[in-house]
Amino acid sequence: MTTSIALFTRDLRVHDNPVLTAAAAGEHVVPLFVLDDTIAAGSFAARPRADFLADTLADLDTALRGLGARLVIRRGTPVEQVCRLADEVDAAEVHIAADVSRYARSRQTRLADALAGSRRTLHCHEEVVTAIAPGRILPSSKDADHFAVFSPYFRRWSDTPLRDVLDRPRRLRLPELPDPDEPVVGAAVGPHGWLGGETEGRRRARHWLTHDLADYQDNHDDLAGDDTSRLSPYLHFGCVSPVELVGRAAAEPGPGAAAFVRQLAWRDFHHQVLAARPEVARLDYRPRGDRWRTDEQALTAWRTGHTGVPIVDAGMRQLLAQGWMHNRARLITASFLSKTLYLDWRVGAQHFFDHLLDGDIANNCLNWQWVAGTGTDSRPNRVLNPLRQAERYDPDGAYVRRWVPELADLTAPDVHQPWRLGAAELTRRDYPPPIVDIDRARARFQEARQLRLAL
Ligand code: FAD
Repeated sequence: MTTSIALFTRDLRVHDNPVLTAAAAGEHVVPLFVLDDTIAAGSFAARPRADFLADTLADLDTALRGLGARLVIRRGTPVEQVCRLADEVDAAEVHIAADVSRYARSRQTRLADALAGSRRTLHCHEEVVTAIAPGRILPSSKDADHFAVFSPYFRRWSDTPLRDVLDRPRRLRLPELPDPDEPVVGAAVGPHGWLGGETEGRRRARHWLTHDLADYQDNHDDLAGDDTSRLSPYLHFGCVSPVELVGRAAAEPGPGAAAFVRQLAWRDFHHQVLAARPEVARLDYRPRGDRWRTDEQALTAWRTGHTGVPIVDAGMRQLLAQGWMHNRARLITASFLSKTLYLDWRVGAQHFFDHLLDGDIANNCLNWQWVAGTGTDSRPNRVLNPLRQAERYDPDGAYVRRWVPELADLTAPDVHQPWRLGAAELTRRDYPPPIVDIDRARARFQEARQLRLAL
């Protein structure tokens, strides 16, 4: 009799999960999740994601029970916990999703080594976390180990066939287990009103593909309309399969579907950059010689949404209230921090990690680097002007009015530039004047970059 362990990480689903399907091919399977002490103690841990994860694990447990098994949850170091369980159930093999961060890869190596010591095998499955595996497509130049530019990557990615979507296993058989058989309980209150889990993720994806996808191209930058899929937390935790989502969206006609698939390609793009350069979670991908300023007051104003620039404050307050922020607002607020205030992108990325439900090393760090001009953007010195962005993507001010109650009765253009009403009016509203002169700050940033580049 063979027993396999399906070690779930961020592939928390039963549909289209190569890890679970492969483990289920044996006689017995133990679905396992390890609450990792190292992650819980690190800077990546965040309460909103912990709650979302709790819901997701409860949902996964229910789904597994429906297939005849259940989720075993252990706490500690994954390598130790997996090896202990493998001994207890005499498992011959362990299955896991390949992942890209430095920590995930080192966990994979340590686990493979530890299992090999007791003649057990670790199987790592690609295309569980991403639609196309990092390294499956490479630039034609001989030495390149990843694509550094999105457009050529996207052309190749679009021409690369997806693997087949897998059905969920029909039946799972558990061996005798020492663990008590208690159902996994989700978070008492959903984080910011979000419900984690595959059931909710699939429901949202279905609804999105049927009702909203067609308009994505026209609406995705409309800040107040909020017409994007909001699937990012479900993709981050693997409640929704990227292969299945790309396949379904790509089968739909029209520019909306094409634009959405392109965004999913950005996700894969950043994962393949991180896989090849894991250090870019902390280090500049393309160092520009920046000597970032430090300014605690400005940083606090940015974090709390009190910079006096309404479109920036609206985004930052949406993040605190919802654990999520519209992509356009992420671009504006990140550009404001890194280029207008000229504060280190890492400080901004950490604040996003602390609050985002979709906080993801590849997508967060590499988008921050893209905006800060230390990443893959081919125009690294461009600076987004928050006032132009506001006029364009929140023309009548509805997004600002929603998130900045001090300005809720104003219309455009005043809602985006309340300082036009005078200092006394700002004081009456208890809303600050801008903490920075936007035009002068842009000039200062560009000068700083040019000087360093010229050195
Ligand atoms: P949709 O517009 O519906 O797009 C569908 C999916 O495509 C998203 O769920 C996401 O998986 C992917 N996607 C969309 N845009 C991007 C992008 N620019 N890069 C990579 N993938 C993308 N996304 C995260 O998932 N986690 C993060 O931690 C994260 N941090 C970001 C930080 C900054 C500074 C910026 C500018 C962007 C960041 N993004 C991040 C990318 C993007 O903002 C979010 O993926 C998107 O807003 C999520 O909303 P949605 O699911 O409605 O997206």
